[in-house]
Amino acid sequence: MRIVDIRERSLPISRYDDPLVPSGGLTTSAVALTTDVIHDGKPIVGYGFSSIGRFAQGGLIRERFAPRLLAAPEASLVNEAGTNIDPCRAWDVMMKGEKSGGHRERSVAVGTLDMALWDAAAKIAGTPLYRFLGERVAAPAASNEIRVYAGGGYPYPDNDIARLTDEVRQMLDLGHTHVKIKIGASPLAHDLKRIEAVLDVLPAPYHLAVDAMNAYDAQTSMAAAAALAPFGLWWFEDVCDPLDFDTQFAVAAAYPPPIAAGEALFSLAEAKLLRRHGGLRPERDILLFDPVHCYGLPEYIRIVQDFEEHGWNRSAFWPHGGHLFTAHVARAMGLGGAEVNPFSFAPFGGYPNGMNIANGHVTLPTTTGIGFEATPELAALFTAL
Ligand code: MG
Repeated sequence: MRIVDIRERSLPISRYDDPLVPSGGLTTSAVALTTDVIHDGKPIVGYGFSSIGRFAQGGLIRERFAPRLLAAPEASLVNEAGTNIDPCRAWDVMMKGEKSGGHRERSVAVGTLDMALWDAAAKIAGTPLYRFLGERVAAPAASNEIRVYAGGGYPYPDNDIARLTDEVRQMLDLGHTHVKIKIGASPLAHDLKRIEAVLDVLPAPYHLAVDAMNAYDAQTSMAAAAALAPFGLWWFEDVCDPLDFDTQFAVAAAYPPPIAAGEALFSLAEAKLLRRHGGLRPERDILLFDPVHCYGLPEYIRIVQDFEEHGWNRSAFWPHGGHLFTAHVARAMGLGGAEVNPFSFAPFGGYPNGMNIANGHVTLPTTTGIGFEATPELAALFTAL
């Protein structure tokens, strides 16, 4: 059992449904990883991508990490029984010779290939990813339903508040009960107007989370925390620079409602720094680490285990990403839930047709692997690869 081919393509990806709104030039890498396992006359191919919110990793994938997988002897890639690829062993192959530290954005390249490895392994096993992964990391849950919320609400260049509230209404129409919008790009006074407008269409303040996208410095973080605290929002996310633990600590000490952090920390070593020095409160705060950006699932599992060993519950983890892969991870690992990006980051954001959201929950598909192929644009994209 070998990996015989890996293809990568870098793609532009937008925060907005409307292609005319400038989105800042984000990209992502799509990968197709072909095995020599033949089912129904065709090779099993695993698909992955670099999640959203960062950039494509074609150079690192093509020059460093894919060649290691392609050159790996069979014994280093398969499980003990020799019946399937073992993604954790394949992860060790990818990381062989890598030096400590210097995580970003190498971790994204590794996480992209890791997603394709898990997709391939679950397909070889003939199970959906949430069940395949669940058997490795926890007692598989009886249900394949998870909690979800809609992420989006990026600032619009014109008619911002009307377009924002329209977007949130559409999220509710889809069956969402909880939503997250962006703040931090505008003066605080305008962001407070955005929040008030969205609260007018939601049943209660704790149905709204706000994401500052790490925009605030030490002073503006405290000013925003003071202004936001009276709302009693669901959570206040990505307050300041992800490595500014002094500011994160000061905000946590001054802001009673929940805080969410960790999205832009990409390794177990960095996650431990947040746990030790960020002042976060295990009984109420939210952890957003993106399994793809954090070197893939083997490292993400280590991060979850580290926090559990220090008094945190898995329900505090709501992985960043807003796509089908994180939904599988949330179900398999018994996490709090997952973000969905229904109107952002097409064709990867949101879920395939037929995965309907009801009362803030979604049922995962029972097709094998992750199931990207159920979205026609993704099926075409990966097939072309
Ligand atoms: Mg965020």
